[in-house]
Amino acid sequence: MEIEFIEDKENKIVFIVKNAPVALVNAIRRAMIAHVPTMAVDYINVYMNTSYLYDEVLAHRIGLIPLKADIDKYNFQNECSCGGEGCPNCQVSLRLNVEGPKVVYSGDFVSDSPDVKPVYDNIPVVELYEGQQLMIEAVARLGTGKEHAKWKPVSICAYKIIPEIVIKEDCSLCKSCVEACPRNVLEVKKDKVVVKNVLDCSMCMECVKVCEDNSISVEETDNYLFTVESISMPAKEVLIRAVNVLRKKAEEMNEILEHM
Ligand SMILES: [Zn+2]
Repeated sequence: MEIEFIEDKENKIVFIVKNAPVALVNAIRRAMIAHVPTMAVDYINVYMNTSYLYDEVLAHRIGLIPLKADIDKYNFQNECSCGGEGCPNCQVSLRLNVEGPKVVYSGDFVSDSPDVKPVYDNIPVVELYEGQQLMIEAVARLGTGKEHAKWKPVSICAYKIIPEIVIKEDCSLCKSCVEACPRNVLEVKKDKVVVKNVLDCSMCMECVKVCEDNSISVEETDNYLFTVESISMPAKEVLIRAVNVLRKKAEEMNEILEHM
């Protein structure tokens, strides 16, 4: 298995995985979505809410605010020495104490821990009018996307097969495939139909359908184009953590099999 990065930005990576079984590629995708932990608000204590929104709606909105955190510093609540009651090692409070008139943004939360704070300060929560007040303690803890989507570290995490497009020698150069392709994957160069950019191919098979002399074929391969966009940690970190989660699970599996 080989990995080649095409795009390598803080919050977005695009890479090609070569010669890998589809089950493994899919396992990495699922691990990135569902098994890499992040911080998110799990419940709120409402001391005062005279806004137009119900407590439940506020709780839902606050839960969806992505939080930046040094996740290695925290334990999962069910694995913590406090027994799940909640302590500084497994949870962090973010306090909100605001009065209208104003629009309340994610940046208005004051965190008990300097390393846990909203990724963006400009996410609107609610608009308060004259005399309205919010006094809230939001309690964040570690969780995974498997439990709830608010703990997902990625907004996009998907792969597609990179096909092999073969144009045979007996091609009559009718160009119907070039015109039929909705993504402009093919072009005519030096009296030959050639593949311009195979990464754009979605395997819709329109070119194969219109070719009258069956001289074009689009086949699946063991190569995949992966796109990952992350929210609360660098995209590459999500990938590395996901691979480590898989490795740990595989070791556990081996141990179970050995004792069977
Ligand atoms: Zn604890």
